[in-house]
Amino acid sequence: MTDCLFCKIIREEIPSEQVLETTNYVAFKDIHPKAPVHVLIVPKRHVERPEELRPEEIADMLNGTEEIAQILGVKETGYRLLFNVGTHAGQEIDHVHLHLLGGAPAKSLY
Ligand code: AMP
Repeated sequence: MTDCLFCKIIREEIPSEQVLETTNYVAFKDIHPKAPVHVLIVPKRHVERPEELRPEEIADMLNGTEEIAQILGVKETGYRLLFNVGTHAGQEIDHVHLHLLGGAPAKSLY
């Protein structure tokens, strides 16, 4: 999609602090981190919701989380994986993305 922010990041028209890339996704640091480590794992294909992802995309994204956590030093201490889906969850960018948050004890979700 031409005017999607995350598509522009994936096409490298907008800079990002990339952590890892595979054929299916790009993982980069969140520009407004909500934790000491905050990475967005973003499929290269533009889809809006997790259920639109193909099984191989989901598997690749989930398999990558351990490596990303290792690279950023939170594998042993733990991290949270999170999809915001829709308005009530606070989804701001309509290009599905998996948040990886760590580096400090997480607060309760509610
Ligand atoms: P969500 O609320 O789940 O849609 O999350 C969108 C995330 O994208 C937020 O945590 C933003 O801080 C992050 N974000 C917005 N613009 C950028 C950008 N240019 N580079 C990296 N992360 C961004």
